[in-house]
Amino acid sequence: MARDYYGLLGVSKGASDSELKRAYRKLARELHPDVNPDEGAQARFKEISAAYEVLSDPEKRRIVDLGGDPLENAAANGGGFSGGFGGLGDVFEAFFGGGAASRGPTGRVRPGSDSLLRMRLDLTECATGVTKQVTVDTAILCDKCQGKGTNGDSTPVSCDTCDGRGEVQSVQRSLLGQVMTSRPCPTCRGVGEVIPDPCHRCGGDGRVRARRDISVKIPAGVGDGMRVRLASQGEVGAGGGPAGDLYVEVHEQAHDIFIRDTDDLHFTVEVPMVDAALGTTVTVDAILDGLTEITIPPGTQPGSVTTLRGHGMPHLRSGVRGDLHAHIDVVVPARLDSQDTELLRQLKAHRSRDVAEVKSTHATAGAANGGIFSRLRETFSGR
Ligand SMILES: [Zn+2]
Ligand SMILES: [Zn+2]
Repeated sequence: MARDYYGLLGVSKGASDSELKRAYRKLARELHPDVNPDEGAQARFKEISAAYEVLSDPEKRRIVDLGGDPLENAAANGGGFSGGFGGLGDVFEAFFGGGAASRGPTGRVRPGSDSLLRMRLDLTECATGVTKQVTVDTAILCDKCQGKGTNGDSTPVSCDTCDGRGEVQSVQRSLLGQVMTSRPCPTCRGVGEVIPDPCHRCGGDGRVRARRDISVKIPAGVGDGMRVRLASQGEVGAGGGPAGDLYVEVHEQAHDIFIRDTDDLHFTVEVPMVDAALGTTVTVDAILDGLTEITIPPGTQPGSVTTLRGHGMPHLRSGVRGDLHAHIDVVVPARLDSQDTELLRQLKAHRSRDVAEVKSTHATAGAANGGIFSRLRETFSGR
């Protein structure tokens, strides 16, 4: 379940970077283990540090705003806020320049981070769903040492600098007064052990960068900006730690004819004046339904909308189809030859009662005949 990172820091969703920083700094001063030895405070400190780390990273923050949890994978692997997170101490140090949140050796193995890939899809691919081969470039497990980081049968040894504790201690004067601080050991970087004979392929990191092709299944009904999550296809962590997730973000290309509004599709039909009066049919390639005939009934007015229910896009989860809306534009001929003019004059003589008339805007707005005001109203009410 996605954690409420904003709530942990007590800020609103729209909080700026400086607001985040201020909120984190304030809470960290109350909860830092050197100031507040209470166990609950330590847990809270880890939580707010994780929340700050997530929200101050634009990529992770976007995942949160989409309802996801960039640390979900870390938590699922038993790490939770404490172990699942590599650099909580780093976040704190970024603020207070030195202090330390580290407690004992951190362990070599860290969960990997998530990756993001963008994929351009056309409207048809969004409607039908599609499986695509993509090339991803991430850290993968080193196949030579299987993530151990050691060469052959050699093993890591305890770090001399910190005696395997992973941290070194010193007394410092700080804004918190004189405090005993511990910081990650510079020799082993907090791990507590070093690899004297590292793997020749990965240099001891347990992972290497590689390009690989994977198959991504995009479900029918996706839309612009939606993300498909591929569990454990992201970056492998340090020391061969469990891989993060890969998010594939859909970028829907504009269609030549249709404009998409969630599951509905809209398009415009230009109908010649005479066809609007007499009625006609028009054929459109309706994505999932192929060539589809749309009936323009006699007396069709400019701005009217003909709707084909269930001929739009499938809903991502339910598969229920949206509607297809044809917006009718009536075209009056701009040029008439002598015969056109003669025929229209005859029609005019026949319909001598049709004359231009000044109308109250209220009357026009109330009319159901597609007057400009009722059209505007339809636009605004989304009908
Ligand atoms: Zn290796
Ligand atoms: Zn050390």
